[in-house]
Amino acid sequence: MVGELRFDGRVVVVTGAGAGLGRAYALLFGEKGASVVVNDLGGGRHGEGSSTRAADVVVNEIRSRGGKAVADYNSVEDGEKIIQTALENFGRIDVVVNNAGILRDKSFPRISDTDWDLIQRVHLKGTFKTTQAAWPHFKNQNFGRIIVTASNSGLYGNYGQANYSAAKMAVVGLSNTLAIEGQKNNIHCNVIVPTAASRLTEDILPPEFFAELKPELIAPVVVWLCHESCEENGSIIESAAGWAGKCHLVRSQGSLLRSKITDSVSPENVQSKWDKVTDMSNAVRLESIQEASGALMTALEDLKSGN
Ligand code: NAD
Repeated sequence: MVGELRFDGRVVVVTGAGAGLGRAYALLFGEKGASVVVNDLGGGRHGEGSSTRAADVVVNEIRSRGGKAVADYNSVEDGEKIIQTALENFGRIDVVVNNAGILRDKSFPRISDTDWDLIQRVHLKGTFKTTQAAWPHFKNQNFGRIIVTASNSGLYGNYGQANYSAAKMAVVGLSNTLAIEGQKNNIHCNVIVPTAASRLTEDILPPEFFAELKPELIAPVVVWLCHESCEENGSIIESAAGWAGKCHLVRSQGSLLRSKITDSVSPENVQSKWDKVTDMSNAVRLESIQEASGALMTALEDLKSGN
């Protein structure tokens, strides 16, 4: 039997913790001994309005179970205020779970500037602001855990969600670089790709699955990723229904498009090699930008040597 994963003495911010996945994360962190900042703007599903109720209800739930929690009602766009709430109430910050989110689904030609901007501001800028405010504290204490929340709509695309898909893939890029910049200070950043029953998905997920997709089944994955003993960093973890898996980008072996270093490349050369360019049968996983550049150098060397 492995020891219990505890968070005593740790301070955790969960954004958008007044409902759905964020609520489940906050409750589990509270149960595991963390002091939890329950952030929630309390607005509608499309980003309209605000209320203190959502965060207050979850704070009361955590406290009634013997846990420690305070409410924060700021928008993640003012992420520095959320981190300030953590510092003022608990004196430190150890974990940031960027979870707050809204939808403004429209088919691409119908997306207005407001639909676009609001989605980027909440998902992408909110993640940037909240995480950046915590970063110097993570560095000083040589410890920090960050979760960013992506979506299969970002990884694979989904009809009617171009604005949301763009934001959800953008936070993957953000996480990739935070994982590199934080590594030397024991700051880890990972992406969660959840599928859960919530107000965001009540009219999207098939009803027969809805009841099985409890947010409580994803919370343990997020909590584990944020524990001091978890070495995972820079990963994309998908989870739903009591299952979890890791996603990777892969690249085909590719093909040289010319025979000699002195040759140019024509669109017809590309066409004739296209099957090989797109052949994923021996696809590889490149671990870093250095490895990706190295692979290009090898292709160039092959060309020079006529291999
Ligand atoms: P939810 O609507 O139940 O919860 C989101 C919470 O975020 C709400 O309580 C809302 O008030 C809060 N919020 C919205 N804008 C905010 C802001 N500006 N500042 C602070 N709080 C704000 O939705 P959920 O399904 O639990 O989604 C949680 C996260 O998971 C979102 O980022 C969502 O995009 C992502 N996600 C969910 C699913 C899913 O299947 N439910 C799938 C992929 C991604």
